[in-house]
Amino acid sequence: MTSLRSGPAVESLCAALDPARLRTSVPLAPYTTFRIGGPADLFYEPESADDLANAVMAARVAGVPWFVLGLGANILVGDRGYRGLVIRNVSSHVAWHDDGGVRAESGVIMRDLIPDAVNRGWSGLEHYVGIPSTVGGAVWQNLHFLSPAPERERTMFIAEVFESCDILSEEGERRTVDREYVQFGYDDSVFHHRADVVLAATFQLRPGDPAIMHRIMQENLSWRGSRHPWLEWHPSAGSIFKKIEGVGAGRLVDQCGLKGFRHGDAQISWIHANIMVNLGHATAKDVRELIAIAQRAVREKFGFQLEPEIGFIGEFD
Ligand SMILES: Cc1cc2nc3c(=O)[nH]c(=O)nc-3n(C[C@H](O)[C@H](O)[C@H](O)COP(=O)(O)OP(=O)(O)OC[C@H]3O[C@@H](n4cnc5c(N)ncnc54)[C@H](O)[C@@H]3O)c2cc1C
Repeated sequence: MTSLRSGPAVESLCAALDPARLRTSVPLAPYTTFRIGGPADLFYEPESADDLANAVMAARVAGVPWFVLGLGANILVGDRGYRGLVIRNVSSHVAWHDDGGVRAESGVIMRDLIPDAVNRGWSGLEHYVGIPSTVGGAVWQNLHFLSPAPERERTMFIAEVFESCDILSEEGERRTVDREYVQFGYDDSVFHHRADVVLAATFQLRPGDPAIMHRIMQENLSWRGSRHPWLEWHPSAGSIFKKIEGVGAGRLVDQCGLKGFRHGDAQISWIHANIMVNLGHATAKDVRELIAIAQRAVREKFGFQLEPEIGFIGEFD
């Protein structure tokens, strides 16, 4: 597809958004946890929920393809980049209520919200410490974590503390919707299936003892640290393949002898076979081919078809 860096569609966007903040040809790799991906033709960073809604509406009116980007922790961007407007959500307003309710704009980063909640003595978010996500991404995904501690050994979901969210619907309406609308599932919500955008979410937390919450955070962080590659050193997008109930996608890849297998600069992690890491200069092509290698090996050995969990964004070689 041809580039969209100029022309009537861009003029229409410039009329609706601050032209000084509408950038062109912005490399996306630094905005993803995989550190992979070519340039977005158009790039805009909304700083509030209103600004986010405005940017999406402007793209719709201009007829420009658009994509809402959070921390880029669950996607692989193609080496040729994205032909359209990437809306990197940096909205960051948070409002606390006396009863433990908190309304956070969807660009708020969980890493910032969690310590704030803990210090205020509100419990429910501390389980998700160490998972890279914006609030919007967390609702989209139904963020979850299998707690390692024996007394809470179960998968916890962000849906458990979710009260409501403000959206810009696919039809262009701004409304507040509840959990019934969101239809949370495992790695799933209505936002996988509709082009609604989460503008802000309200969570209802419970009173908690900060000392206990700090203990949970330390346990969870140390559990993650010992079982997952460190993102700072080995960029990744977390789990590559969807869970296979009762079997484990990572276990199948491991049993094919693929731990540590390298293709280009992409590698199946030595310590977690369902995580692929970027050894420094991996391309999206390297990762896609490595995914195909793992899928083929598992299919031939066990007959299971592994499905990627991550989203593929933009154009690939
Ligand atoms: C090292 C590592 C560990 C991980 N561990 C876990 C884990 O334990 N549990 C877990 O659940 N996940 C885990 N993940 C996956 C990832 O953290 C989650 O999927 C997270 O919710 C992604 O959020 P994000 O803001 O980065 O979204 P992005 O990756 O930027 O976007 C993902 C999708 O969400 C959509 N989206 C983002 N914001 C909005 C919005 N405001 N409205 C509508 N759609 C939106 C995007 O358009 C895109 O389709 C891990 C990832 C990494 C890199």
